[in-house]
Amino acid sequence: MSWVRPTDPVNVPKKLKVSQLCEICHSRKAVLKRPKNLQKVCKECFFYVFETEIHNTIVSNNVFYRGERVAIGASGGKDSTVLAYLIKLLNERHNYGIDITLLSVDEGIVGYRDDSLATVMRNQKQYNLPLEIVSFKELYDWTMDEIVAVAGIRNSCTYCGIFRRQSLDRGAEKLEIQHVITGHNADDMAETVLMNILRGDIARLEKSTAIITQSKGSPIKRSKPFKYAYQKEIVLYAHYKKLDYFSTECTYAPEAFRGTARELMKNLEAVRPSCIIDIIHSGENLVLKDENERKKKQFTKNKNQEKATSAKKSTFVDGNRCEKCGYLSSNKICKACTLLADLEKSRSKITLENDTSMEGAARVMRTLEHLSF
Ligand code: SF4
Ligand SMILES: [Zn+2]
Ligand SMILES: [Zn+2]
Repeated sequence: MSWVRPTDPVNVPKKLKVSQLCEICHSRKAVLKRPKNLQKVCKECFFYVFETEIHNTIVSNNVFYRGERVAIGASGGKDSTVLAYLIKLLNERHNYGIDITLLSVDEGIVGYRDDSLATVMRNQKQYNLPLEIVSFKELYDWTMDEIVAVAGIRNSCTYCGIFRRQSLDRGAEKLEIQHVITGHNADDMAETVLMNILRGDIARLEKSTAIITQSKGSPIKRSKPFKYAYQKEIVLYAHYKKLDYFSTECTYAPEAFRGTARELMKNLEAVRPSCIIDIIHSGENLVLKDENERKKKQFTKNKNQEKATSAKKSTFVDGNRCEKCGYLSSNKICKACTLLADLEKSRSKITLENDTSMEGAARVMRTLEHLSF
């Protein structure tokens, strides 16, 4: 255990006012206020409670089983760096008996992902863990920089999200690992809940608040051990533990709607710190309330779909494989292949227009500005 109550009276600071003492051990000087509940704590107690809370989340949700092989989605950013450090630490401390590998995706964003991957490579050595890197270029023959040049910056996160999700699954499949854990934290989850509520997308709430998710028919499950961990606490943990992480933002800003939801969350958190956890709990309970009604509606919808598709003698169901790439997909062609087909069309259109252009680069720029997907 890393936490010790200071029992030696010689080491207990004598001149501290009660208001300066840590509210957990009541012995050491408090050095920070926990963003989650504004409790004043010393560094040692902060490490201990933060690590214990993550451990409790893992145990109470049966996130791992003994002997399981687990891939940590590692980007070099604060969340995944703390995740890799902590999962290794907790695995040793509590003897989970899991086998850990770092799994990174190189989206091909010059000046961002290349630098953050250098951080992952250092982490690999620091934590002595195996590392596998899969790249968009190698899987799809496109880099994100090339995609943005064709599809525009407005769509960057849509492409990036779909390709990255599939890349992580493909990387895990290659390693014969069936569990990918990611550093999504409470702020990310609350943001997603808020976005789904604002869009009226109640059906997605269930997935957005689940700690473990798995598509029907997919052998790979995903989990988020930081579901209840505040982003600010992850940053504080990384800072006080002096972890080596990459802090530059992606060159392509997050999509406008998510950016606005993030801003809204930050404003709400400033007034009421507990709102992050409160929103997650609201999302979880909304799912429970609507579950029966939703199941009934889904059942009727499925029945109607069944009737319609049986007429066409289609046997395609969720869990089948994409006809083009063989990846698990609920449609005949997976989302990534649909996007790739759009990209290829746009690439040929641009090439064609560029060839016949009289105004050269200016015309290509105009074409890019007007392309939409
Ligand atoms: S901000 Fe968008 S483009 Fe950049 S890494 Fe994130 S999802 Fe990809
Ligand atoms: Zn303390
Ligand atoms: Zn496909």
